Amino acid sequence: MSFRGFLDKLKTEGKLREIKKPLSPVYEVSATVGKELALFTNVNGSKVVMNILASRELLAEALGVPQDRIISHLSSRQPEGEVKIVKDSPTKEIIEKPDLSKLPILTHFEGDGAPYITAGVVVSEYEGVMNASIHRLRVIGKDRLAVRLVEFRHTYNLYKKAQENGEPLPVAIVIGIDPVTLFAVSTRVPEGKEFNYASALSGEPIELFECENGIKIPHAEIVLEGYIHPTELVDEGPFVDISDRYDIIRKQPVVYLTNVMNRRDPIYHALLPAGSEHHILMGIPYEPLIFNEVKKVADVKNVVMTPGGCYYFHAVVQIHKTNDDEAKHAIDATFAAHKSLKHVIIVDDDINIFDPNDIEFAIATRVKGDEDIYIYPNVRGSTLDPRSENGIGTKVGIDATMELSKKWKFQRVPKPKV
Ligand code: MN
Repeated sequence: MSFRGFLDKLKTEGKLREIKKPLSPVYEVSATVGKELALFTNVNGSKVVMNILASRELLAEALGVPQDRIISHLSSRQPEGEVKIVKDSPTKEIIEKPDLSKLPILTHFEGDGAPYITAGVVVSEYEGVMNASIHRLRVIGKDRLAVRLVEFRHTYNLYKKAQENGEPLPVAIVIGIDPVTLFAVSTRVPEGKEFNYASALSGEPIELFECENGIKIPHAEIVLEGYIHPTELVDEGPFVDISDRYDIIRKQPVVYLTNVMNRRDPIYHALLPAGSEHHILMGIPYEPLIFNEVKKVADVKNVVMTPGGCYYFHAVVQIHKTNDDEAKHAIDATFAAHKSLKHVIIVDDDINIFDPNDIEFAIATRVKGDEDIYIYPNVRGSTLDPRSENGIGTKVGIDATMELSKKWKFQRVPKPKV
């Protein structure tokens, strides 16, 4: 489904809130948006949409499955779908020289110091290997951006390869794409497989077309073409990250823009830093990865990244236990699937993993602290964890499942049916 097709569908269903009041991109949009889907029709005269995937309900709608089938849909698709290369695209309605001041790029919070592109999918390719992933992009000129490249991730690796040869890395920054492709590029898949995964999730080949610089991209509202300079670095940050705190300033590479394409009257998509759409895109893609990893060691029923854990640091994994060892194996499998995870709780299949109180009930009644809590100090986690030192921290796994031999002690009493 196209980006506009998805928005039209939501509008027809009465789910798209339109905000017509004129707003400045500096603080006013981020102060107004809240948690719900919103289309701002006059941000310095331009359109801005936010929160298109800000809930499980919206994600389910984009994927075309009921909410409780998200995990089985995602975990059953392999990143091997076919893509379809096409010649033309509505994205080419307007082609011009880069001038970022024409776009309603938001400045989100008072400490930010610059506007940031937050829903820009950076598509890059070098020596036949491509990648697509969202990177935050700080505006540092009318045709220049600072890009945060997390070390040893795919875009960073391509940038490093190009750098070794003294070459720039060609990129196309794509804003406003169909929500399923947006979700696919937010998922960690084997190198170069993002669009194949998007096709697999969509159930049909997604269309890609070629930019002037050779990068193949999906149809989009706005495309910024250019390259990442091989050696130039600038200050990037401060910027609010998923844990709703300021990330530090680092020296990061510079993107030079060479060409801009967009739809007529384009709809600019922005993610609110630490907002629910940011959380959903960062966290939910890990659920199927954890699901498939735990499946190797236990009869896994469901996996949830929880809102209280910023959809990133905490997972709850539900298993149907047939052997007492399986909970510990499930803990290890979960940490193997999501390296940035900090805490995981394993529960039985009578626990509602969408209900924080039910999870707490499992901890209250099924955990013995000295036997069921596994602590892993000094291991690599996330640099986003404020309690880590350069990403090195402590992980904890909690086995909140019943002891199989004493099930009678733990099972909840069935309520009489009247
Ligand atoms: Mn990748």
